[in-house]
Amino acid sequence: MRALTLTALGGIEHLALREMPDPEIGAPGEVRIRIHAAAINRLDLFVVNGLPKFSLPLPHVVGSDGAGVVESIGSAVTGLNVGDRVMLDPGVSCGECAACRRGDHPLCERYAILGEHRSGTIAEYVVVPAANAAPVPADMGWPEAAAFPLATLTAWRMLVTRARLAAGETVLIWGAGGGVAQAAIQVARHLGANVIATSSSDAKLELARRLGADHTVNHATGDVVAEVKRITERRGAQVVVDSVGERTWPHSLRCLARGGRLVTCGATTGPMVEIDIRRLFWHQWSLLGSTMGSREEFREVVRLAHAGKLRPHVDRVVPLDSAVDAFRLLAEGEQSGKLVIEVAS
Ligand SMILES: [Zn+2]
Repeated sequence: MRALTLTALGGIEHLALREMPDPEIGAPGEVRIRIHAAAINRLDLFVVNGLPKFSLPLPHVVGSDGAGVVESIGSAVTGLNVGDRVMLDPGVSCGECAACRRGDHPLCERYAILGEHRSGTIAEYVVVPAANAAPVPADMGWPEAAAFPLATLTAWRMLVTRARLAAGETVLIWGAGGGVAQAAIQVARHLGANVIATSSSDAKLELARRLGADHTVNHATGDVVAEVKRITERRGAQVVVDSVGERTWPHSLRCLARGGRLVTCGATTGPMVEIDIRRLFWHQWSLLGSTMGSREEFREVVRLAHAGKLRPHVDRVVPLDSAVDAFRLLAEGEQSGKLVIEVAS
């Protein structure tokens, strides 16, 4: 099969299309998917650039998001048939450890993400446990189906399970051009929250309003803290979604209401931040980490996709031959929404 593979860690220059052996079903509960489209995420850039203490068998097939047709099924698979259109939950969990038994799959002792800890989706075929494949809504095309799972699942767990965002609360979401931020805008809107989104691009802010943001602030030219104070009549936002990291963290804390929750799933501009512990306890803030989502959370976002409530915004679709260019676009932050790779037409 053709696949986008990494031959060394350390940068996009080590990515190339190459011929790889077709993956085989190795357990009775697995299915093999003929991938039609794959989407890329910041996570893919972290894998390509190489994380500290992270090693991989090389060459490694990249990509966490994908959608396609069930091509063959293991002997123990029920509820899926050859020919079904499916999208993939990017997190593979054992289903047996204590975390899995209480439904906390991202904390599974053997948690593995497609394209990071196991072979990825930017390939003609991928093998996954049947539990990781969910039906694609009939009115959803391949690019949207590929772009949906990782960002939406991540946003859902952050806002619903971790931050417990409630109707009528205000949420501040930084960096509205990103896939997770755009999904967070839609999830927050679905929950009935008041959404403030920021970006350095007026075009991305316009899109954020179309996706459901009530207020937008250009953080390159405007004062986010002052705007949040004005919009919330000085109370601040009950929830802040900050995956930007070092550059925005001090502003995020100044925007946070008493009893507020700051939730993060990334640190694009750097991971080291400061906190004044006196403000933390006096204001009774919660600082929450979140990553990926559980099987139940995946089922819930898929249900809302079928109901037409949550849909990803696809910036552009590029052919498999241009997959490396899509990684460059993502690294430059030029996209507004998801970058999708068409693997099969
Ligand atoms: Zn487990």
